[in-house]
Amino acid sequence: MTKQTETFLSSVERMFDQAADLVGVSEGLRHKIKVANSTYTVRFGVRLRNKLFTFTGYRSVHSEHREPVKGGIRYSPHADQNEVEALAALMTYKCALVEAPFGGSKGALVIDPSEWEEHELERITRRFTQELAKRSLISPAQNVPAPDMGTGEREMAWMADEYKRLYPSDLNSWACVTGKPVSKGGIRGRVEATGRGIQYALKEAFRHPEDIKWAGLSGTLDGKRVVVQGLGNVGYHAAQFLSQEDGAIIVGVMERDGAVVNENGIDIDGLHKHIHENGGVKGYSGYTSDSTSVLTMDCDIFIPAAMEGIVTRENANDIKANIVIEAANGPITFTANEILRDKGCLIIPDLYANAGGVTVSYFEWVKNLSHIRFGRMQRRQHEKQTLQMVEAIEEMVGSKFPTKHLEKIIEGPTELDLVRSGLDDVMREGYQVISKKWRSDNRIPDLRTAAMMIALERIQDSYGSLGI
Ligand code: NAD
Repeated sequence: MTKQTETFLSSVERMFDQAADLVGVSEGLRHKIKVANSTYTVRFGVRLRNKLFTFTGYRSVHSEHREPVKGGIRYSPHADQNEVEALAALMTYKCALVEAPFGGSKGALVIDPSEWEEHELERITRRFTQELAKRSLISPAQNVPAPDMGTGEREMAWMADEYKRLYPSDLNSWACVTGKPVSKGGIRGRVEATGRGIQYALKEAFRHPEDIKWAGLSGTLDGKRVVVQGLGNVGYHAAQFLSQEDGAIIVGVMERDGAVVNENGIDIDGLHKHIHENGGVKGYSGYTSDSTSVLTMDCDIFIPAAMEGIVTRENANDIKANIVIEAANGPITFTANEILRDKGCLIIPDLYANAGGVTVSYFEWVKNLSHIRFGRMQRRQHEKQTLQMVEAIEEMVGSKFPTKHLEKIIEGPTELDLVRSGLDDVMREGYQVISKKWRSDNRIPDLRTAAMMIALERIQDSYGSLGI
């Protein structure tokens, strides 16, 4: 493959082919799974600032072997069909890997959100939603978008509200998108879910000493030196949890306008506040305009959490991290993946690593369909039963239960506790199955191929049961 043709989509397809060869997927089925089922381009006009502006949006449906299909919508001036199709394909594999019962989809609007006022973005988003709804590209039963780069709770709330207006008698209309604010049918723990998933994935990797040793490391996350690219939703939460809860030291953060370095550890909340107040990292203590030097700085763990195509054949040799965990989708190209792997770098692949978002989106969708908050029915029952047990223990041993533990023990799980528990379970099990697969056959070169193989085996089974 020539230099020019290593696009995001071609990288995903080469990773797919490598795994499909090892699984032994038949030629016909391989083609069926690989290509996007459909990609819609919508162009619509919105009158703003006394002028008619035409916007271009995409929604690609990669595979409908499970329905609804699921995947984020990004707002980016650089979005194009190739990117959306690559992201939709990754969603299919990701959902299959973490057993979220969805096919894969992805969408984008070609827009730079920073150029528009909030009320203008709302009008644009509502119009975009109408275009999607017309084609069943947003629907609780068929296609369920979520936030991605450049979108968040606010945009999801607008979309859900617009959908509700269009289909007022649809009892399940809240389930048409996930990532909504809690007051608009969202679920606690969704905002930080992808970053939380990155933390859980790394913690599980460190529970596999043989994998950590393979990467030339030992011990736990405590004291590990971490570089993060992109302090947006995913990068910020991952950096915050790793530094505040696990003792990792964030030594470098790269953003659009430069980077920040601090060998003693960057105050992530302070830097995040600075970015929001000043629109970038410039001016923060430890600022450098030389992001490349931060990308290639000595560290234990690199977390690309911005965008695709960051580590390429040109710079892969300069990356010094022992572990790269792909918080973003597609940050490492196919060739760069081979170069890093051959250097002994453990790559925790996107289709597993950033699955925390879709996992908690799945919980939100189930919550919307069941119309009840997780834990609502059990919490007080748990409290009552535990109190009875405590009373029985006190009677048996003849002394009082220590009050410092009592409160925590009798308190039943909240929605957030249950979401975290479910997410932790998915992330732990996900790592265990891909690591086991990688170790099971020396023809499987890395965790990515192992993850892709598991996803393909499940999709193949699903098509098989349909007689395809
Ligand atoms: P976001 O828009 O909240 O954050 C992206 C951050 O990256 C921003 O702070 C932006 O300034 C920065 N950035 C952009 N280009 C950069 C560059 N060239 N160099 C350095 N920094 C740059 O987006 P997000 O939701 O955090 O998504 C980030 C990545 O994670 C994307 O690849 C997305 O597909 C993936 N992802 C997101 C979710 C989710 O739940 N939001 C789930 C799975 C995967």
